Amino acid sequence: MGGRPELTLKRQITRLPRDTGVTGWNAILGTAPHYPEAEGAISADWLVIGGGFAGLSAAKRLLELRGGDRVVLLEAGRIGEGPAGRNSGFMIDLPHELSGDGYAGSTDGDRLQISLNRHAQGFAKSCAVEYEMPTEAVSQIGRINGVVNARGEAHNDAYAAQLASLDEDYTKLSAAEMTEMTGTDAYRSGLFMPGAVMLQPALYVREMAAGLTGRETSPVSIFEASPATAFSRQGDSWQVTTPKATITAGKIIMAVNGHAESFGFFQQRLMHVFTYASMTTALSGEQQVRLGGLPAWGITPADPMGSTVRRHAGIGGNRIIIRNRWTFDPSMEVDGSRITRFRRDHDRAFRRRFPMLADVDLEYSWGGRLCLSRNSVPAFGEVEPGLFSACCQNGLGTAKGTLAGIGAVELATRSNSPIVQDLLSYDRPVKLPPNPIAKLGATLVLRWREWRAGAEI
Ligand SMILES: Cc1cc2nc3c(=O)[nH]c(=O)nc-3n(C[C@H](O)[C@H](O)[C@H](O)COP(=O)(O)OP(=O)(O)OC[C@H]3O[C@@H](n4cnc5c(N)ncnc54)[C@H](O)[C@@H]3O)c2cc1C
Repeated sequence: MGGRPELTLKRQITRLPRDTGVTGWNAILGTAPHYPEAEGAISADWLVIGGGFAGLSAAKRLLELRGGDRVVLLEAGRIGEGPAGRNSGFMIDLPHELSGDGYAGSTDGDRLQISLNRHAQGFAKSCAVEYEMPTEAVSQIGRINGVVNARGEAHNDAYAAQLASLDEDYTKLSAAEMTEMTGTDAYRSGLFMPGAVMLQPALYVREMAAGLTGRETSPVSIFEASPATAFSRQGDSWQVTTPKATITAGKIIMAVNGHAESFGFFQQRLMHVFTYASMTTALSGEQQVRLGGLPAWGITPADPMGSTVRRHAGIGGNRIIIRNRWTFDPSMEVDGSRITRFRRDHDRAFRRRFPMLADVDLEYSWGGRLCLSRNSVPAFGEVEPGLFSACCQNGLGTAKGTLAGIGAVELATRSNSPIVQDLLSYDRPVKLPPNPIAKLGATLVLRWREWRAGAEI
């Protein structure tokens, strides 16, 4: 063979991410450190594309496994402004659905998922220590599955029974205990699970980026406002272009979640779903006393379509964050009118739960992307020689995104780990029906489920 390097066609990246609404998590932190825009000809051993949980975890794992290698990370927008800085920050160890059918096989499956999710939590905690993050970036305060109606009660009872069969800790909370903990009397009971880790998501990703690049000798370079716009294979390496740079790298970790489809992978196999959140103004000392309860807690809804509610204390004050509403958007974009409309739902959910805070307003509202597949499997693996996908989380995205980033690096460095074995054990994401049908079907299902969730919203 020999001689000329093998050239493949340059492939355009068809869509770039667009984040709608201002994420309160990032705004309350104040000005973010700027990373430069990629310019000119850059070469690296590894190119990580995407600065969310998967991309930053991949860069960290590369530092651990391949200390001397040069790593370039491209983020299309700013670190902390993408979905990783706009989620509710629940890094959960327990799967939302436990198999609970009593067969040893499925119990083992649940145990494996729990131990992997705890591995992701441990990774975040150890990064928090190593990079000296403020305590609220990563804190294990547990979470409560809050109940507002009989359906939720039945769900929590069934879930508690499954936790008991797995020897997992939990505490059932009465209405009075819920009020004591959270200040609101909107919940008739709750299930407290101590294993959940709470992130201040924007703070965590900002601190990860700062930690990765902090030392003068760090081999990791982060570039913001530097979307990958095209890529091609040239001999043994990859060439990726951004608006102002060409990056040549031996291997690529593609950590762009649903945008894997914009790179031409898993086409018509990924479901692009949005959810929405709002954050209040900082509560004054007097408002905090009026509310009562603990300064920080997190409630997930017993019905998955209900509202997630958090009280958070740290930089930017003590605030309440409400997340609800789901939409299916194959375009991967939503416009500002959606945010305005759903902010009204957040406001209603907030007023219903916190009538004692009638003088508190929502300050920030935003939406963000998630990626699911119809058969709930990741879009993971070596999709072309030297190009590794760490995408599609199917829920629990803070933990699963972290695992995907770690796993992609472990796969690429041939470290056979339980994470790699698990991520490679799934089928491929199955094909979706054509877009108009998929959108109509998914939208009807979402609306019906939201209607059924009723007062949980
Ligand atoms: C409102 C909301 C609440 C949520 N709450 C929770 C929660 O409480 N717990 C939980 O576990 N999950 C939650 N999620 C989901 C979670 O945020 C995601 O699953 C998670 O961010 C996925 O991580 P990731 O790194 O795979 O992808 P992302 O965080 O989406 O990161 C991918 C990055 O790639 C970048 N990118 C894309 N294309 C390019 C390109 N061409 N060039 C360069 N960069 C590119 C994007 O800008 C983005 O920053 C929530 C999501 C939303 C929107």
